[in-house]
Amino acid sequence: MGQEQLDNKLITVEEAKTIVESMVKALKSETIDLSHANGRTLASNVYSTVYIPPFNRSAMDGFACRKEDLPGPFKVVATIAAGVQIEDKLEAEHCYRIMTGAPVPDGADTVIMIEHTIASDDQILFTKEFTKSNISPKGDDLKPGDLLIKAGTPLKSSQIALLASSGITQVEVYNLPKVGIISTGSELIEPGIDLDKGQIYNSNGHQLKARLNELNIDASNYGVSPDDYDSLKGNIEKAFKANDLLVLTGGVSVGDYDYVPAIIEELGLEIHFSKISAKPGKHTVFASKDDKYILGLPGNPVSTLIQFEECGRWILSAFNNSAFKALRIKSIMACDHYRKRNDRFELFPVRINDDGKVESLSYHGSAHMHAISIANALLEIPIGVNDLKKGDKVYVRPF
Ligand code: AMP
Ligand code: MG
Repeated sequence: MGQEQLDNKLITVEEAKTIVESMVKALKSETIDLSHANGRTLASNVYSTVYIPPFNRSAMDGFACRKEDLPGPFKVVATIAAGVQIEDKLEAEHCYRIMTGAPVPDGADTVIMIEHTIASDDQILFTKEFTKSNISPKGDDLKPGDLLIKAGTPLKSSQIALLASSGITQVEVYNLPKVGIISTGSELIEPGIDLDKGQIYNSNGHQLKARLNELNIDASNYGVSPDDYDSLKGNIEKAFKANDLLVLTGGVSVGDYDYVPAIIEELGLEIHFSKISAKPGKHTVFASKDDKYILGLPGNPVSTLIQFEECGRWILSAFNNSAFKALRIKSIMACDHYRKRNDRFELFPVRINDDGKVESLSYHGSAHMHAISIANALLEIPIGVNDLKKGDKVYVRPF
């Protein structure tokens, strides 16, 4: 697509997502030890090979007995610790003292809590009305063949626990993508150097590196590249070759020094879109060549953050053969919120307050990093909406 055509082609966020998902190819997978799997994404379904619990398990510290003998008295014949399987069948009016997690002996169908008994000599008596058995039956949570975790699931501590509880030591996960970051702009310098006239500090590079790190990706941050066509082209070419995804910030708009789209085309990539009806971040570029991708984000730091949370996350999920789904929750406006134009889908920095309602922030626009630094969610404002009133139901995305 030529640059002129692209400038006229404004697509919706949904269309952009569909394009990304149809273009991006999943990465290869590898099998790794469970101890290294936290933060990785499963590449194949994992099925249970065991029963969980593996035996009828006592849920309480108490006495294993027969319900029909309640309330006793019971003769206490032995103690069963967790990890000990008693082979003898329980006899009538006998009970075993049993610990939480221990296998319930054959013949027992109830565990009465220690706190609900009185003891004398080697006998105990149940002092309450029966309400429940306090036994977790074998296979109650999972049986062999049950689906444990679906392919495409990112593994967190709760999934690692489930896999470990099933005796699994290795999992097949997608390779981590190689991601590079270049911050374009002749006005940018790195923190640590005194600002000269007209200069600002590069925040986008650091922001993206940190965000990718939160997503378990150790990205290569190539620093600042000035708006010089040839040197920028050289830097983009090198970084593009070395990575699966190159994220660029700045230089994607229609200013005199916004060289990124032209360079991308000259390097032989196909630009799939360069304008989405999103606010902030209308000028977002997505391009590819030979299963490698470039995401060009607008330079204003809030646009960078928000469009990375949109397009960037779509690409990363597609590397794992998954469709990205933002976590959205229904909430209520704690104040009025007005915007002049309503022709773009907007993600607006807000705070969910202690009552779970949405407070607007003082927000000066997409360069206002302080606002985003105190926000804890993004408010979705659909196309066609410009006047939200206190009490209106809205969707927010915690982040
Ligand atoms: P651009 O997208 O290049 O037109 O830049 C839009 C605005 O974002 C300009 O005010 C830039 O100075 C600013 N900007 C661009 N890149 C960065 C960056 N890496 N860090 C902070 N601000 C930036
Ligand atoms: Mg620029």
